[in-house]
Amino acid sequence: MKKYFKLLVSVLLLMGLLIGCSTTTPDDEVVDPDPDTDVETPPVTDVVEDGTYEIVVNGHNGLMTLRVVFDGGVIAAVEIVDHSETGVLSDPALDGIPKKIVEFNSVAVDNVAGATVTSAAIKLAVRNAIEEAGGDVDDFNETLVKPDSESKTLQFEVIVVGAGAAGVSAALKAEELGADVVLLEKTGMIGGALVVSGGNQVVMGSQLQIEAGVSDDTVASMVEDFLNNGAHLNDEEMLTIFAENVGTATDWLNQYVGVEFNMEGGLHKLAEYSYDRELAYLGGGAGFMRSTLEKIEESSITLLLGTKATELKVNDEGHVVGVLAEDTDGNSYDITAK
Ligand SMILES: Cc1cc2nc3c(=O)[nH]c(=O)nc-3n(C[C@H](O)[C@H](O)[C@H](O)COP(=O)(O)OP(=O)(O)OC[C@H]3O[C@@H](n4cnc5c(N)ncnc54)[C@H](O)[C@@H]3O)c2cc1C
Repeated sequence: MKKYFKLLVSVLLLMGLLIGCSTTTPDDEVVDPDPDTDVETPPVTDVVEDGTYEIVVNGHNGLMTLRVVFDGGVIAAVEIVDHSETGVLSDPALDGIPKKIVEFNSVAVDNVAGATVTSAAIKLAVRNAIEEAGGDVDDFNETLVKPDSESKTLQFEVIVVGAGAAGVSAALKAEELGADVVLLEKTGMIGGALVVSGGNQVVMGSQLQIEAGVSDDTVASMVEDFLNNGAHLNDEEMLTIFAENVGTATDWLNQYVGVEFNMEGGLHKLAEYSYDRELAYLGGGAGFMRSTLEKIEESSITLLLGTKATELKVNDEGHVVGVLAEDTDGNSYDITAK
């Protein structure tokens, strides 16, 4: 009898403990004791060993080292410790991909167009970290749900398609002259070929050429050198326009846009030129684009990255009056130039 009494007391105590732990409604619905303290956290999968994992993978230009932190069974941080990826071009991937992986606790994030190798390398590093932490990549591979796509109708005075060196310069000049400008770029970053180029530029007739020690170069001399170098296949009229304007354009880039040139390195000595007339951008092509991006950001230009022009809009008279475009989220654009 005593034995049964002890057992009954234990069962009652255990029930009391359980009742103390959760608050239930008569319908057995669990009630949050403090609904105001709710925070949205990614689902805890609890399938990896928490900790910090340092992973080395091959990037586009060389090895990349990443630090991946798991906390509470989720990807808590992805940090790029070391890399040699191309500046500017890979920045959107280096900044954006780790943030998205952590936000969605998933490696199924989209690559950044124009930096697909860097994007894939970051995702591979996180996959490797999951496996090293004893996890299964499938538990961190949930496809992200994109917001519903929209059709947008926009109007600007000037539409520039492509944010390479030519496009960014055209957009900045149009904006300087007072136009309302949109600049479309299909990849995730401005720059085009210039970002991977040597970043050397002919500066004939500029103040910079004079500052660097050459003040007697001429349009005629430059045209002649270029014709000889191009086996006289060049369009001489276009070449002359270029030679007549490259000096002023260079000074505009330097003084208005803020692109810096490597004056310490000085004018390059090239066998094909009668006068020294080439300078490098400070920081190469990436340096040019960094300064240009800063200028665009402080301007009124609307920059649409990841947005590809798909068709030119032509009116009845055959004039181009706008473009149709679509972005990487599936939104479509009908843009008219006033
Ligand atoms: C390795 C290398 C080294 C070089 N070195 C030098 C050098 O030292 N000196 C020199 O003077 N030149 C050099 N060049 C050449 C120079 O870089 C290019 O001539 C110049 O950058 C071209 O600029 P761009 O704006 O005309 O074209 P691009 O750089 O090709 O830009 C075009 C842009 O338009 C975008 N685009 C294309 N289609 C669409 C669309 N439908 N919708 C939206 N966006 C679109 C592209 O993504 C790209 O960003 C080099 C080139 C390379 C590749």
